Amino acid sequence: MNDQHSAYDPNQIEKAIYEDWEKSGDFHDEPDDRIPYCIVIPPPNVTGALHVGHALNNTIQDVLIRFYRMRGFNTLWLPGTDHAGVATQSVVERRLWESEHKTRHDLGRDVLIERIWRWKDEYETRILSQLKRLGCSCDWKRTRFTMDEGLSRAVREVFINLFKENLIYRGKRLINWCCQHRTALSNDELVYEPAKGQYWYIRYPVKGDSSQSIIVATTRPETMLGDTAVAVHSTDDRYKHLHGKTVILPLLEREIPVITDDELANPKKGTGAVKVTPAHDPNDYECGKRNDLQFISILNDDGTLNENAGPYAGLDRYEARKRVVEDLATRNLLVKVEDHEYEIAHCYRCHDIIEPYLSDQWFVKMAPLVELARQSVMDDEVIFFPQSRSKQFLDWLDTTPDWCISRQIWWGHRIPIWYCTVCNPDIKINEKGDILAIPGDAEPLVPDSSSINASVSQCPKCGNSKTVQDPDVLDTWFSSQLWPMSTLGWPDKTADLQYYYPTNVLVTARDIIALWVARMVMVGKKYIGKKPFSHVYIHGTILDEHGNIMSKSRGNGFDPIKMVDGGSEEIEDYRHDPPEKRMEHYKAYGADALRYGVMSLAAIGQDIRLIISRQKRDDDSYDVEVLRFEEGRRFCNKIWQVAHGVILQQCKNVKPVRNTSSYLEDRWLHHILAHGIENMQQAYTEYRMASACDHFYHLFWDNFCSWYVEIVKPRLWEGPEESADYARFHLVEALIIFLKLIHPIMPFISEELWRKLKPLAAQAGLKDIESSLIRAPWPDAGQFKKDDDTAQITETARAIAATINNIRSEHDAIGEHVKLPEVIITSSSSISIDPLRPYIKGLERFVKTNKIRIESDMIRPEQSAAGVVGNIEIFIPLAGLIDFEAEKQRLAKKISQAQADLEKILKKLSNPSFIDKAPAEIIEKEKIMRAELESVIEKLNQNLELIE
Ligand SMILES: [Zn+2]
Ligand SMILES: [Zn+2]
Repeated sequence: MNDQHSAYDPNQIEKAIYEDWEKSGDFHDEPDDRIPYCIVIPPPNVTGALHVGHALNNTIQDVLIRFYRMRGFNTLWLPGTDHAGVATQSVVERRLWESEHKTRHDLGRDVLIERIWRWKDEYETRILSQLKRLGCSCDWKRTRFTMDEGLSRAVREVFINLFKENLIYRGKRLINWCCQHRTALSNDELVYEPAKGQYWYIRYPVKGDSSQSIIVATTRPETMLGDTAVAVHSTDDRYKHLHGKTVILPLLEREIPVITDDELANPKKGTGAVKVTPAHDPNDYECGKRNDLQFISILNDDGTLNENAGPYAGLDRYEARKRVVEDLATRNLLVKVEDHEYEIAHCYRCHDIIEPYLSDQWFVKMAPLVELARQSVMDDEVIFFPQSRSKQFLDWLDTTPDWCISRQIWWGHRIPIWYCTVCNPDIKINEKGDILAIPGDAEPLVPDSSSINASVSQCPKCGNSKTVQDPDVLDTWFSSQLWPMSTLGWPDKTADLQYYYPTNVLVTARDIIALWVARMVMVGKKYIGKKPFSHVYIHGTILDEHGNIMSKSRGNGFDPIKMVDGGSEEIEDYRHDPPEKRMEHYKAYGADALRYGVMSLAAIGQDIRLIISRQKRDDDSYDVEVLRFEEGRRFCNKIWQVAHGVILQQCKNVKPVRNTSSYLEDRWLHHILAHGIENMQQAYTEYRMASACDHFYHLFWDNFCSWYVEIVKPRLWEGPEESADYARFHLVEALIIFLKLIHPIMPFISEELWRKLKPLAAQAGLKDIESSLIRAPWPDAGQFKKDDDTAQITETARAIAATINNIRSEHDAIGEHVKLPEVIITSSSSISIDPLRPYIKGLERFVKTNKIRIESDMIRPEQSAAGVVGNIEIFIPLAGLIDFEAEKQRLAKKISQAQADLEKILKKLSNPSFIDKAPAEIIEKEKIMRAELESVIEKLNQNLELIE
């Protein structure tokens, strides 16, 4: 009989199955009297296509949704995308510059926004189709976008509400400014990186006495143009005589006071005197407020210097730095320069160096809100997996400043605030009608309603209708924080919101715990009075084999869909200068193999290293293989082969045999199924995806395929008929269970085999097989009887089989496929061997022997090989198997060869000059070889003794 069936080809089935699920409405539920299980997707940004990290994140969610769907919950996995303000606008602006050499100002607000909407439509479509290709069973009828009408209304509702509660305010603050993006950023959007810089020591002459001066040190010399004081410590004797005096700011010749500020000046650091630039440094800013200093901003929003910089106006900040240093040096005011390493903040999107920048921005007062989030975690309303991640959450709550929510870009939710241009004549508007600046003291007006078309068309004070809307948009996270509520219909009290909120679990990566997770908890508690989710599952990050984060721009990432469907792609590797291009070819692994590969590595709290091999072809392109996906593909193929070759072929005339089987292996199968169902259920429930893969692999491959299927084959072929009936029934019954258990991870192959198996399952009288597998009920472990005695006997039988196969492989003279004339199993205790009798027939075939004899208390026959399992001995008589004379000679030759090799190594190891000079790992290698050879010689001698 031939077990081989045509290999599994995922491309033949996956797309058709997905379409069927979609058509049948299998992803959609409406509120009813079942228990809900809901996940809202972390909305992918519409900046580009999905990467391998998304494949991990979304597969986990799909596994959970499919598992709970099968368990009878009313499930909703709500999909959608995020407009990702700064990120998306900058991608589109970059494209605009590359292709048309235009800036956003050439296009104007409306045209740019229209372009970004087109970009969004294109990428949203692409992202959603990628999710479908991965098998994600999202409820596409409920797909949302952070800027669609309903979600925009939720944003307005919260903004207006917080504004009316005085929890949103506008103020002049020193904020983080990205000169590339020309917008404010919140603290959470910065990345700190070490930088090599300098300390410049500059001399400020004292007014009226050019013989005296104060020396200050700075890492940013150009900011001296905005200095409004020099601060010293009140107890610093070096400067006591200068208290109350003034110094002349070099280059601009401006007179500035010497002040005492014990918080800013540290007598032990540098010269003890510091320059104070309140408009360009956070510490100086506080000092400026304490001492009522002038705030002089010297920067334009694009990083060039403004009119306050005198002769340096118009220069870029780095050019200005060079010129300032040169000019100081020529005037002999530069005392010295020291190298200095420090941490510097960069924009998390464009990596430009962030400038502290004084401007009018909108802020959310955080103190009252963080308390709500803290309580939720402290009271275990929201539980983190792994638990340790809750610390990151709480730490952020403790330290977060007020949240700067205004962004000086166009793509996003425009701030729902209007100003009267008559009451505020300082509002600057250019000829195009663009608002250039809103003075800090302009009075904000909010609309009465949160409807997205509502505006303030008339000034309540002067009755004029000349009002303008604030030009800024809100931080992306302002809308993302509402995602679990707004996608379900809030602020309306919809049936969905009442039924599905709070959701069950948020599956996300650790880098947005503060940016996103904490804020969702805050607003959920504030506006609904309930947490947004019960669990937060923080999964690891996907890394390459060297531990680097994967991304296409680094040249070590890949498009997950290319791995599913196969194909080729040109990769640009930016790690090289100039960037290297290479062509890569991918084979089609199919979605199931990729899902299994990624899930088999997803252990709680751990990053995931993917080993990728790139083999160069003759034409300098590369074949790319991912080891884990390869394993997934191999596993799919095994499932496919066993299902077809053994079960679908051999069990065509399966019959319903209801009563309990008297066959040992059948009872054992039920025993492992009962445990298997429990283990899988527990692993899925506890987010242990890698364990679920391990359990299933062991259950299906090691236990079912490598043992049960092999042991029952004689019953299928030779009968008796009743025995074959039971075997067929159990094979079909077990496969039904296996398909259910693995469906959440490998949905396609399981659904396809389920369809093929259904007629046989019906013939066997099995229940709950009517629907598609996606809607089939999760198996009940209680339907199978656990039987520890049977498990014990089976373990012994398997150990005996393994021992026999070991002996065979140690005696290469026997030959791999030669049938052993006889195997004897014996023990002094008949209790040990009698229960094995039912396994004899299966075992005989399994270990390839004509006969297994069970004897009590037998002595080892002459010229036989032997093995031991517990108190059982196994003898394999070798007469007739081996030509003893020839084997003696062969063994003797091998022994002398091995001994010669050993001699050489021993000589090396006793040579002092080798031991002294050779690297440690070479010596270690020799020692390992020595041990190996010694054990080989021992084995060979034993075998020789045996036949002498
Ligand atoms: Zn930037
Ligand atoms: Zn007015």
